[in-house]
Amino acid sequence: MVLTARRYGFPDLVRIPMKCAPGAGLFLVLSTLLLGLAPTLKVMLTAKFIDTAVEIAAGNEPIERIYTAILGIVLLIAYLWLSNALSKFAVNRMELALQRTLRTAVTDKRARLQYVHVENTDTWDLIQRVSGSPEQKFTQAFNNLLGILTLVLQVGGVGALLMAQVWWAALVIMAFSIPLFYLAVQGGKATYQASREVSKHGRRYGYLSELLTGREAAEERALFGYGDFLNDMAHEVYEEARKVELKTRLKWYLRMKSGSLVTALISILIVFVLLPPVLQGALSVGMFISLINAAFSLVQTMSWQLTSRVDRLAQDHEYLKDLTQFSHLEEEQGAELPPTPQVPSFESLEFRNVRFKYPGTDNLVLKDVSFRIEAGKHYAFVGVNGAGKTTITKLICGLYDQYEGEILLNGRNIREYSHADLKSIVNMVYQDFARYYITLRDNIALGSVNRMPNIDWALEKVGLAEAAAKLPQGLDTPLGKIKEGGQDLSGGEWQRVALARALVNPAPLIMLDEPTAALDPISESWLYQEFGDLSSGKTTIFISHRLGSTKLADHIFVLSDGRIVEQGNHAELMQHRGIYAEMFDSQRSWYQ
Ligand code: ADP
Repeated sequence: MVLTARRYGFPDLVRIPMKCAPGAGLFLVLSTLLLGLAPTLKVMLTAKFIDTAVEIAAGNEPIERIYTAILGIVLLIAYLWLSNALSKFAVNRMELALQRTLRTAVTDKRARLQYVHVENTDTWDLIQRVSGSPEQKFTQAFNNLLGILTLVLQVGGVGALLMAQVWWAALVIMAFSIPLFYLAVQGGKATYQASREVSKHGRRYGYLSELLTGREAAEERALFGYGDFLNDMAHEVYEEARKVELKTRLKWYLRMKSGSLVTALISILIVFVLLPPVLQGALSVGMFISLINAAFSLVQTMSWQLTSRVDRLAQDHEYLKDLTQFSHLEEEQGAELPPTPQVPSFESLEFRNVRFKYPGTDNLVLKDVSFRIEAGKHYAFVGVNGAGKTTITKLICGLYDQYEGEILLNGRNIREYSHADLKSIVNMVYQDFARYYITLRDNIALGSVNRMPNIDWALEKVGLAEAAAKLPQGLDTPLGKIKEGGQDLSGGEWQRVALARALVNPAPLIMLDEPTAALDPISESWLYQEFGDLSSGKTTIFISHRLGSTKLADHIFVLSDGRIVEQGNHAELMQHRGIYAEMFDSQRSWYQ
């Protein structure tokens, strides 16, 4: 399945689940039809039972006749019970099928998105909302639609039965019931909204409790000693939720009582309207009793179900709007492809008068950047935060191509390279590198998707071999939060895992964008030096605002406010006594 760019509407809530899980879908539709007709059948069977009983009591019928009537009712109840259980199974099947098809389609689309959408907060929120759990959204929406169909069939069936018995009574009842029913629905709505309000408070309280007891914030909790402060906050939220809940329950109770009053009124109305036909013999006693019974329970169910179903429908409508918008987000051809297996060689990279602003902004982030990088050397981009260092790496990775000027890779316009080719030439370790909660082996293997790398070698190189040997299942130990069954690593160890991942990547150009920001300056400087040695033969670009870490680079570019303002090796730059020398002197104390 492919998520095409188009308008998604309510028909899709039926079409997509039916296409992905035709068996389960068909079963659910059929069982809905039967469920919708069940009250009508029940009225008929109960009426038959009562009427037969009356006849038997009067001595007009033999006692055996009652058994067929009872059998009918028992069969109906058994069917309803069975279909309920089978429906749950069908819903599960449907969700699984949608997970394989729809979710994959959404994830694929997500992988093909232009990078600008990933960085933009609005579109990122949209992407998160849509790709959360589309299979669940669709299954629930499908069931909600069926639920509405059930309600319509139930009311329609009983109404039709009434109409068939005494048509004018049906009309009179309808005329009076509609306004009363409206009141009942209003009551249901208020209750529903209040319960959502309570759950909102509940979630906040849950979050605060997690902060107070969870693993995630354990270090900061110990460090800042904010336990009491948070405790008070949680207590306040809890009190607030309790008050809302109490108020809601009270309101709900009153509404329920007044709702019952309305239902009772409708039932009394039905009794009065139907009484004359019973007395005249146009309506049997059994039919009279079971119709009143059915109407009573239907009005009650509808008053709360209809509200929640309609509300759900409104939420589904919002989701469909999101999905439509998501499906129209621009894609980047080939962005989702893995790097090409044949690793091309790297000769040079050149920026010529590159000017760039992020899409949708007016701020020129790179004002006029020119530089040249040659194979086999170590380079560094330094400068204060916000100078534009990371932006340069994003352009080299081909994430944005709306720049002015020229970027040449091996003398060829970088725009002419496919994403797969670029990925096989350029390797990048990000400042906020990912921590994958999978095994240590896989954490590193992700760096080289085309062939299984030598994991032991990489661990050895980044100084993790010893720590890895101590893990309970060695390389196959799942990493992650202790709570989720993984073995947690220290911040520094995670950083080394990320570096090992970069080491096994065969790309000839490696960029490290402050991946060591969480380390102290001395460890950072040591790691950069190590990494430079390890990646011998490759070309490296180190990015940092800490100059002590990058002073060993063959060539240093100093970036300030979107321009390269100084360049040379460390000694040259120090001699020049410009920005670099000033920055270096001011940071000197970090390295002593
Ligand atoms: P550095 O890496 O030197 O700290 P960056 O390249 O990250 O600097 O950022 C340079 C400038 O670009 C900053 O002013 C930053 O606010 C801006 N910027 C970075 N990313 C985006 C983005 N996705 N959208 C808009 N502006 C951005």
